[in-house]
Amino acid sequence: MAKQSGDHCSLCGRARKDVNLLIEGLEGCICDSCSLQAADIVKENVKDLKSSVGDKLITAQDIPTPKLIKERLDEYVIGQESAKKFLSVAVYNHYKRVFQEKGKVDDDGVDIEKSNIIMVGSTGTGKTLLARTIARMLHVPFTIVDATVFTEAGYVGEDIESILTRLLQDADFNVEATEKGMVFIDEIDKIARKSANPSITRDVNGEGVQQGLLKMLEGSIVNVPPNGGRKHPEARMIAVNTKDILFICGGAFDGLERVIGKRMNSRYVGYASDGKKQIDRSNLLRYVNHTDMKTYGLIPELIGRLPILTYLEPLGKEALRRILTEPKNSIIKQYKKLFSMDKIDLNFDDDVYDYIVDQALIHKLGARGLRSIVESMMMEAMFEIPSTGESEVHVTLEYAKKMLERSNFENMMDA
Ligand code: ADP
Repeated sequence: MAKQSGDHCSLCGRARKDVNLLIEGLEGCICDSCSLQAADIVKENVKDLKSSVGDKLITAQDIPTPKLIKERLDEYVIGQESAKKFLSVAVYNHYKRVFQEKGKVDDDGVDIEKSNIIMVGSTGTGKTLLARTIARMLHVPFTIVDATVFTEAGYVGEDIESILTRLLQDADFNVEATEKGMVFIDEIDKIARKSANPSITRDVNGEGVQQGLLKMLEGSIVNVPPNGGRKHPEARMIAVNTKDILFICGGAFDGLERVIGKRMNSRYVGYASDGKKQIDRSNLLRYVNHTDMKTYGLIPELIGRLPILTYLEPLGKEALRRILTEPKNSIIKQYKKLFSMDKIDLNFDDDVYDYIVDQALIHKLGARGLRSIVESMMMEAMFEIPSTGESEVHVTLEYAKKMLERSNFENMMDA
C-alpha cells in the first residue's frame, strides 16, 4: 500500500509513530532527525556558495566624503594629519572607482586605475590602526597579514593566496563582499631586496615574494583555497577577483631616513643656507618619495602598484599623552569602562598620565607600551576591588609609582 503523505517523512520514509516530530509541508513531511541533518549540510555548504548572503554589501551611497572619513579617523587616531588626509582621499577615490558605472551611453571610456597605498613610519605609530578604522567605518571585510610569512610557491611558508583566504573568512565566505574588501600588508619593508648582499641562493623572502604580490595588487582572478592551502589540497578553490580590493601596505623601513637624507643632500646642495629650502631634519620621512622606496629595495613594479605613498610621524610626549586619554576607545576609557561594569568609579590624578607617558618613553615602548604600563599598574586593583565592594578607585601618582614598582615592570623591561 502506498505511504500516505502526512504520515511519513518524505526523506527517510519513517512513519510518524517512529519519529519524535514530523513537520508538514505543502507536498510532504520532514522528520526531526532529517531536518537536523539537513541543517548541518546547509551549514557546511552554504559557506562555499557564491552568494550575497551575510553582511550588507557596501554601496556607492555608503561612501563618506574624504572630510567625513578624516573626521572619523580623528576620533580614533591622534595626530598623523598627513597620513589621514592621504588615506581619506585614496579610500574615497578607490570606492568611487569601484562603483563607477561602466558601459553606459555616456561612458567616456576613461578608466580610473587602482590606487593601492603604502605607509611608512616607525612601529606603533598608528599604521594598522588607521587601516582598521577605515575598514570598520565602511563595514568592509578586512584582514591584516604579515609580509614576512610569505614565500615563493614551493618554499616553506604561506602561499601569497592565503591573504585572500583570510579576507574570505572575514567576509564569512561572501565572495562579492570579499571582492570589495581591504587588506593591510604589514612589514612590507621586510621583503625588500637585499641588494647590498647579493646571494647565490635565491632570495626566498625578498624579491620573489614581491613578484608574487604584483598580480594580486593590480587585479587578477586568484583561485583561493578556502582553508588556507597546502594542508587541504582537495578543497574546492574559490575564484576571487582582486581588482576592487584595496591593498594598504605598511612598514617601519628602518634606515629609510638615511636614504632620504642622502638624496636630499645631493639635491639641495647650496640651497639650505640661502633660506629658500629648509629641510626638517628631525622628520625626514615627510620627504619620502618613490625613488627612496626603490633605493630601499622594493622593486619598481611593486612601487608602481602602490602609487599612494604617505608617512607617519614619530609619536612624541604630547601625542602619547593624548593617545592615553583622547581617542574614542582610549586605554584609560577602556579601563574606566571595565571598572564601571562592576559599578566602580575609576579616576586618575592628571600627573599619573604624565608618569605613564614618561615610563613609555624611558623604556622606548611607544604607544603600544601604554597599555602594558596601565595593565601592570592596575593589576592589584583589578584583582582586589571586585570582591571588596568598594565603589571608587582613585589613582594618585604615589599609588601609580608603588604599583608599577611592585609589579616588577622595570625588571621585565630590562630583561
Ligand atoms: P603600527 O601598525 O604603526 O605598528 P599600530 O597601529 O598597531 O602601530 O599601533 C599600536 C597601538 O598603539 C594601537 O592599537 C593604538 O592603541 C596605539 N596607537 C598608535 N598610534 C596611535 C595614534 N596615532 N593614535 C592613537 N593610538 C595610537
